Amino acid sequence: MRVLLVGGGGREHALALGLANDPAVDQLIAAPGNPGIAAVAELREVAANDPAAVAALAVEVQADLVVIGPEAPLVAGVADAVRAKGIPAFGPSAEAARLEGSKTFAKEIMTAAGVPTARAHTCTDPESTARALDDFGPPYVVKNDGLAAGKGVVVTDDRTIAEEHARECGRVVIEEYLAGPEVSLFVVTDGEAALPLLPAQDFKRVGDGDTGPNTGGMGAYAPLPWAPPGLVDEVMRDVVHPTLAEMRRRGTPFAGLLYVGLALTAAGPRVIEFNARFGDPETQVVLALLETPLAGLLHAAASGTLAAHPPLRWREGAAVTVVVAAEGYPAAPRTGDEIVGADRAGVIHAGTRRADDGTLRSAGGRVLCGTATGPDLAAARDAAYALVRRIELAGSHHRTDIAAAAVEGRIAVPD
Ligand code: AMP
Repeated sequence: MRVLLVGGGGREHALALGLANDPAVDQLIAAPGNPGIAAVAELREVAANDPAAVAALAVEVQADLVVIGPEAPLVAGVADAVRAKGIPAFGPSAEAARLEGSKTFAKEIMTAAGVPTARAHTCTDPESTARALDDFGPPYVVKNDGLAAGKGVVVTDDRTIAEEHARECGRVVIEEYLAGPEVSLFVVTDGEAALPLLPAQDFKRVGDGDTGPNTGGMGAYAPLPWAPPGLVDEVMRDVVHPTLAEMRRRGTPFAGLLYVGLALTAAGPRVIEFNARFGDPETQVVLALLETPLAGLLHAAASGTLAAHPPLRWREGAAVTVVVAAEGYPAAPRTGDEIVGADRAGVIHAGTRRADDGTLRSAGGRVLCGTATGPDLAAARDAAYALVRRIELAGSHHRTDIAAAAVEGRIAVPD
């Protein structure tokens, strides 16, 4: 199988490792890829958000499967353009990607499908914003309605900050605060059949102890030793299948990766958000534990044959990933600094580039991820931090508490 992977971040590096490990893959091409991905794939330039350009590249390289990593190409219709050439694409249509592209649309689908989620109002002016904030009270949750690369959400007790965020975004979804530990569940689907991956937890805030602003994600671990037994079955029954059925009913089936972000509240699991693609950095840990060949799985989803796919197999143990971020991330990351110590197994490239002089340079806010597995969570955590300690990048920062509460048994699901 010849596989074209679209994207160039940490998620795509993790996907590239999984795809390259699948014995069915003869050739892996990544566009645009990154210096980490270059070790396992041939890199090609492409305007990843341009459907015609990606489709033309897929034809040129004679791809049997195109895997689209990031959300922006999906929302732009890249999967549709690839499929129009008769090539299976892993990733939803532009219509179906609205589950991520518009928070209002996602709420509409959840309401129609009876999916448990936070109550919410869409607001476009100061008056409706004030009414919604009054309705729910603090902590206030204010979300940009469109794509914001994981940084469009403000959760705050400060009314002024909440109102300012709403004003800056223009169109926002304001919703009820959900209290309880968060879970990311990835589901591979062809629109009808659906296979859940291992639940993971990520860390959205920039600082230890969940302090500071939201980011794209500072680390992750899987599996979740504290998750209630039956959680995945419950979410498949109450969230995933009703959502897929509603999307089919509307004539816009969702095929690809449905990312369900949940809060486990006292009243049960509640959906915080849907994404239309693998999450970053949870993908790094989930795929590190997946034993089933990845290309075969994604091809089955892309070609509508997932019902016939064998059950997934998982490695024993646990995986942890810790993000190394550039100085100034998330507000104003500095780029262009030299990186030393990144060329070793387990170091995932998220925002790097190879300079003309051959040095590796930072090229984004989240620069690298130290990813490791181990026989248990404590061992995986130690190994991930050992990788991070060997990375040299001036001014960089990382959280020191990824997976710490889980290792120490400090996470409780409210009942
Ligand atoms: P989102 O982009 O919707 O995933 O939101 C980013 C982060 O904001 C989530 O991972 C949560 O930590 C937090 N968040 C979003 N919505 C809520 C909510 N209704 N209640 C509590 N926290 C939330």
